[in-house]
Amino acid sequence: MVKTFSTHIVKIGNVQIGGNNPIRIQSMTNTDTMDTLATVEQSIRMIKAGCKLVRITAQNVKAAENLKNIQTELRKRGYTTPLIADIHFNPKAAETAAHIVEKVRINPGNYIDKKSNKNYTEIEYRQELENIKKRLLPLLEICKENGTAIRIGVNHGSLSDRILNRYGNTPEGMVESAMEFANICKSFGFENLVLSLKSSNARAMINANRLMVERMITEGLNYPLHLGVTEAGGGEDGRIKSTVGIGTLLKEGIGDTIRVSLTEDPEFEIPVARKIIKFSKTVSKPEFFLIRNFKDYKHPLVISESQNTKADLFVNNDGLTDKSGNQYPLVKTDKNLIKNPEDIVVVKNAYKNLNKEDFLIKSTLDYSCPLLDGLCQGIWLDTDDTISDKDTVQTAYDILQATGVRISKTEFIACPSCGRTLFNIQKTLEKISKETKHLKGLKIAVMGCIVNGPGEMADADYGYVGAGKGKITLYKKQEVIRKNIEEEKAVEALIELIKENGDWVEKED
Ligand code: SF4
Repeated sequence: MVKTFSTHIVKIGNVQIGGNNPIRIQSMTNTDTMDTLATVEQSIRMIKAGCKLVRITAQNVKAAENLKNIQTELRKRGYTTPLIADIHFNPKAAETAAHIVEKVRINPGNYIDKKSNKNYTEIEYRQELENIKKRLLPLLEICKENGTAIRIGVNHGSLSDRILNRYGNTPEGMVESAMEFANICKSFGFENLVLSLKSSNARAMINANRLMVERMITEGLNYPLHLGVTEAGGGEDGRIKSTVGIGTLLKEGIGDTIRVSLTEDPEFEIPVARKIIKFSKTVSKPEFFLIRNFKDYKHPLVISESQNTKADLFVNNDGLTDKSGNQYPLVKTDKNLIKNPEDIVVVKNAYKNLNKEDFLIKSTLDYSCPLLDGLCQGIWLDTDDTISDKDTVQTAYDILQATGVRISKTEFIACPSCGRTLFNIQKTLEKISKETKHLKGLKIAVMGCIVNGPGEMADADYGYVGAGKGKITLYKKQEVIRKNIEEEKAVEALIELIKENGDWVEKED
């Protein structure tokens, strides 16, 4: 991997990000920040797994103050890993944390901007920016004094109404939001900054980061970038979705630090992050084929050598055959000779001696960019005996789903949880997924808290959101449908809601 966008170095305690430093892996605790021991112990598990920066939510001043106890206990036990405070709505919590930890993450979408549905005139828009500047300066002063770094962490799902009003919920809006805050920091001579532009939609996240780099190059800026796909969910889908977003950009030489957000214990994110970095540096040797005159091409196709799978096309001696027995010659070609837009381009990659997780990550990295950029209409994953034909074909479909080019099952958007989560989100996601994974095309969000969840789940069709201890609120799109349901009854209530709205289909045997 050649680093094409060269960033400046930001110091976060004893860890440097940017420049020629290795890509730093980070993650976030999901314990209650007020539970010092649980947070310390989870942080140690993360550090032992290879986490170089530990982020902890600080939803209020009390939680921010408790970061001191967490830090002291970690240092006492010999761990010097820098800590990051995760702040959303509370500038006072940010200012408190900035005295303690090595880095503070603020979200420009909800840090200062107030909710308002009005249409902004140019004067009002500028006035509000001036207000933001005034509110941000105390934090910048504390950070300067204490050598604390800042991440301006923009999320697609929580842009301010002011930005939405002018730019819509777009990658351009995300870039503008980051730039506004970065420019305020710059005007104050504060450059110990990292930027991030995240989304639960891998394509939106990639576009936003590519645009951010273009914008920085145009303006002569070079802030390090933190990459992540928010609410990626868990299991294989979470790994594939994270790889699409993070891996595609790393392959392009974009990104200085990464966080893989899985709805799993945070230490399990670290090996995945490591593999994404490792495989983003390996070079594959794909083979290219053309299918000419394919009838009624609608979406990218899955090709398999095994007839006993649910692939679209099967390899035989004469080329390819479909389920109806139609035969298609397969013409081997050179990548540089692919010119006719009518031809279907099939890309074949071979995977030997890989375990399942390595296979998922490597194959996703091979196909995400060609699929996202429309350069490939057929994917042929050639595996050895370590991966079954069924799993190979399922992975192919999952890659198509994660890149958004072909939807074949339910999409789950689930936050990784944090100190705000008051229910067992991992078990709940498993349960909801078991009941609803056959609802092709539906997006179901499972979110840990009512404060950030509804905004972050953005375009989900249904939302299951933690509303307090043992209480769940259900959403249809962005509308609250049922409030404060007992947790034990909430999955059933979600299924009922999907049925009431005509989106339910019975499972096939
Ligand atoms: S949505 Fe999830 S990760 Fe985000 S603040 Fe709420 S509980 Fe934490």
